[in-house]
Amino acid sequence: MAGLRWGLVGATTIGREWMIAGIRAAGGEIVSVYSSDAARGAAYAAEFSIPSATTSLEIMLREVDAVYIATTNDRHREQCLAAAAAGRHVLCEKPLATRLEDAAAMVSACREAGVVLATNHHLRNAATHRAMRDAIKAGRIGRPLAARVVHGGALPRHLHGWRLHDVAAGAGVIFDLTVHDSDLFRFILEDEPAQVMTIAQNGGLASPPVEDAAMTLVTFKSGLIGQVYESFTTPFLRTRLEIDGTRGSLVATDCMAQRPGGTVVLRHSGGEDGIALDQEDYYARGVRAFEAAVRGEGRPVATGEDGLISLAVALAAQRSAVSGRSENVQTLSEILS
Ligand code: NDP
Repeated sequence: MAGLRWGLVGATTIGREWMIAGIRAAGGEIVSVYSSDAARGAAYAAEFSIPSATTSLEIMLREVDAVYIATTNDRHREQCLAAAAAGRHVLCEKPLATRLEDAAAMVSACREAGVVLATNHHLRNAATHRAMRDAIKAGRIGRPLAARVVHGGALPRHLHGWRLHDVAAGAGVIFDLTVHDSDLFRFILEDEPAQVMTIAQNGGLASPPVEDAAMTLVTFKSGLIGQVYESFTTPFLRTRLEIDGTRGSLVATDCMAQRPGGTVVLRHSGGEDGIALDQEDYYARGVRAFEAAVRGEGRPVATGEDGLISLAVALAAQRSAVSGRSENVQTLSEILS
């Protein structure tokens, strides 16, 4: 079966490093790239053998079945709404937007247009995380009571732009990584975050008031408690994800990345067992599920609604970092009501 005809919205780093290959590996055909800069768009198209480049989103939308939106976070809303109005499916980068009302408008517009909206929370595709989710569902750690994520490292030099300095574009580690981690908790634990309390740090890399590291405590509907540390500033950090239950603990190491990898062990009364992992490119797996969802076969790995909730967590974390208090995370029905 022929794959979708895709348009890339934004001549971006994530496209260059992962998503162009991911779309093609999943059977999609990239027919056009949109960029606000004609020369940069044309050079990008030539570099990746994309047949056309345009500075008109409207023209691109006539030529494609689906768009991959990866511009800065403040531009996602307008571009998603244009795609929905043209009846095109949307795979959008996280965070879906910088304001909850923008993300809610994106979800509503895609629902009304009857098009698929997915959020590119790639970490759901990691074999480590899928194995942890399966182990918990199978009851292998008993009742989960606590979860911890350590996620970060050194932000590569070529990404030292808007992410560190441009508040309006959606800068900061909370928009960049807390959205992923809160989504991952929801995916693995099948639980909903209720409250967060965050301490943000500026370690000298980002321009204040932008944070370049943050630590967040999360309480979930079930009573489970979680802890998340994200940073752009700690080059030798080892990424980890741990879930502790009444009868066992799951420990994943080197697992919070873009490249497939990492290990998971299950610790229990009988000792420690490694879990066999079926590794696969995270981005290609996400696009494959998106293409299937467009054909009416299942759901995207992370929906627009999932992206709405991960943004709600990030915004609550930002509020908490300022207020110094614990902040409620709005539920999906509260956001969409
Ligand atoms: P980039 O900075 O590479 O691209 C963002 C925008 O900046 C582009 O749309 C482009 O504008 C403009 N731009 C790109 N390169 C240049 C340049 N050399 N000079 C001037 N402007 C330029 O962003 P990323 O690829 O790092 O991130 C894009 C989105 O993807 C964000 O929403 C981010 O949060 C998300 N992301 C998601 C990841 C994931 O694993 N899910 C990982 C990394 C990022 P134009 O549209 O005009 O071409």
